[in-house]
Amino acid sequence: MSQIVTRFAPSPTGFLHIGGARTALFNWLYARHTGGKMLLRIEDTDRQRSTKEAISAIIEGLEWLGITWDGEPIYQFARAERHRAAVEEMLAQGNAYRCYATPQELDEMRELARKEGRPPRYDGRWRDRDPSEAPKDRDPVIRLRAPQEGETVIDDMVQGTVTFPNKDLDDLVLLRSDGNPTYMLAVVVDDHDMGVTNVIRGDDHLTNAARQTQIYRALGWEVPRMAHIPLIHGPDGAKLSKRHGALGVDAYRDMGYLPAALRNYLVRLGWSHGDQEVFSTEEMIGFFDLDKVGRSAARFDFQKLESLNGHY
Ligand code: GLU
Repeated sequence: MSQIVTRFAPSPTGFLHIGGARTALFNWLYARHTGGKMLLRIEDTDRQRSTKEAISAIIEGLEWLGITWDGEPIYQFARAERHRAAVEEMLAQGNAYRCYATPQELDEMRELARKEGRPPRYDGRWRDRDPSEAPKDRDPVIRLRAPQEGETVIDDMVQGTVTFPNKDLDDLVLLRSDGNPTYMLAVVVDDHDMGVTNVIRGDDHLTNAARQTQIYRALGWEVPRMAHIPLIHGPDGAKLSKRHGALGVDAYRDMGYLPAALRNYLVRLGWSHGDQEVFSTEEMIGFFDLDKVGRSAARFDFQKLESLNGHY
């Protein structure tokens, strides 16, 4: 089997919170367990929300936790030309098309969907129009010509087989009218170019995985193996909030937690190895695998973290 390549791909819009730290940890452990590589990609395409401070906080947080990556970090925004080139390829092959629908038309589609009680869906009105019909007064977005029949199936290493009827997935935007790539496109092109074999991330990205799979197919590229890990919830089962501990890794450092304790605590959030609670780094790397990651949301528990801290 070829070498496993994982990646951690944070958006630098805030601190490294514990959910992100756990995703990074699982990517790191899976790579180290299999003798593979973990790469770091900073997804800074959202220019409004990405900050230098957040990039530093993420890098410092990973370093403090002892999570190391291979090679230099890749910055997504710097790769915009490459993203556009991939779209040119899709246009040339007829797997993408220019869409001139106006904001008002899109609003009408949304309104119709709302009335019919279904999720909004672009109706494909520019799929097969002749280029000579293109209006001169506005720039188009480029959309994927997504399959309309059949299903897109994800064989997920944690969630199992997940099936998305293609009729629910509309022709997504790949390039905005200002020529900027969308997140969905950038992730696919970058993962492909970086040789990523395994995408391990939160299960809030599961629907994106179906859309990304469609882009891979349109480009004729192999789809990486996916593993979508359940998000961390609070002790009461609700989405993790600040009150529950959804803080930056730096906040835990400042509260006096030791990196080894936090890392040990994070590895147990969603993964288990019998009932062992305390692991050395070597044990974590030796035992970690994705088949022991559960499908239900892990619950954050401060007391457990507290008691683990006492072990170090
Ligand atoms: N940048 C995305 C995020 O921070 C992750 C994308 C991915 O892992 O594919 O949620």
